[in-house]
Amino acid sequence: MERILADVEKLCFDKELFPIMEKVEKGERLTFDDGMTIMGTEDLNTVGMLADYVKRQRVGDKVYFVVNRHVNPSNICAISCRFCAFGVTKKSPNAYELSHEQILSMLSDDIREVHIVGGLHPDWKFEHYLDIIKLVKTNFPQTHIKAFTAVEIDWFTELTGKDIEWVLQTLRENGLDALTGGGAEILHPGIRKKICAPKTVATRWEEIHTIAHSIGIPTNATILYGHIEELFHVVDHLDRLRNVEDESPGFLAFIPILFQPENTGMKKEVKFFAGSYDLKVHALARLYLDNFPHIKSYWITLGEKMAQIALHYGCSDADGTIMREKIIHDAGAQSELGHTRDFMINMIKNAGFIPVERDALYNEVQVYN
Ligand code: SF4
Repeated sequence: MERILADVEKLCFDKELFPIMEKVEKGERLTFDDGMTIMGTEDLNTVGMLADYVKRQRVGDKVYFVVNRHVNPSNICAISCRFCAFGVTKKSPNAYELSHEQILSMLSDDIREVHIVGGLHPDWKFEHYLDIIKLVKTNFPQTHIKAFTAVEIDWFTELTGKDIEWVLQTLRENGLDALTGGGAEILHPGIRKKICAPKTVATRWEEIHTIAHSIGIPTNATILYGHIEELFHVVDHLDRLRNVEDESPGFLAFIPILFQPENTGMKKEVKFFAGSYDLKVHALARLYLDNFPHIKSYWITLGEKMAQIALHYGCSDADGTIMREKIIHDAGAQSELGHTRDFMINMIKNAGFIPVERDALYNEVQVYN
């Protein structure tokens, strides 16, 4: 360890990072100010080497991926978030609702994880959502169901008049294995107000994940970055998530999602962020979220090549095959769709890591060494 960090110290040209380096070496928790220093430094490579060091201490050369599918049952949504290109009203010519047959036709026996999220449908009852997860569980019992954002859980409490715990328990009894990490966007109220005013507030998002963890339902957490935020908001976001995990452990992975502006109401106000910013967000996440098992390099928004680079900046997960993704591609994502298991294996191997196929709960299915 000493040798590695001595090498990092030799290459480092921002002396402000030295105290952070010492903390990383001693395994000490970083402070909010440390987070700001990392986001503000020009010394991207030192930050990357520190994040890679922490990642390798946890899982060595392994990078996880999953054979998965995304199912978005409907894009009809009762509210409208400015950053979203997916949600539409019932009257929109683009509105759709997937039938049970259509959902089943998207799945197959080799899939380990089904990721289900959609709009807040104004007419569907809670039972409709239960039927969807029952349908998937009954037909594909070996598949984990990672479904719904905290915003959808909040919506279900409104639909049923029941509390968060009741909704989560009922979903679990019908097949839910884990919650997704969506709906977090940026938790700071100042940004939330500007990009998704009608949505579940940050404290409620945090409460839903806290309760899910307390009853044994693992969850994930995202950040939607690269739009109008300041560096401060990124650190604040991570700080809130780290506090939730301290209070009630249960997060599986943190997923940075690079904002895609096409077809959204925010296209004209998005600031310019260099590629180094993407890498810094991922590296900071690994360094700051010392209580999160995994940081994800999400090729859907980063693109496959940048996602490979992010694996060297603290990421230990490359998501999965996905096949069909609508929410982010509606907003202009350029990544290809329909990747195979072999593609994921090669993508990870070509970046210099050992691919490990996992399920939604990070149980290892196969190591491709
Ligand atoms: S982000 Fe979700 S809640 Fe907001 S408009 Fe889009 S689908 Fe609806």
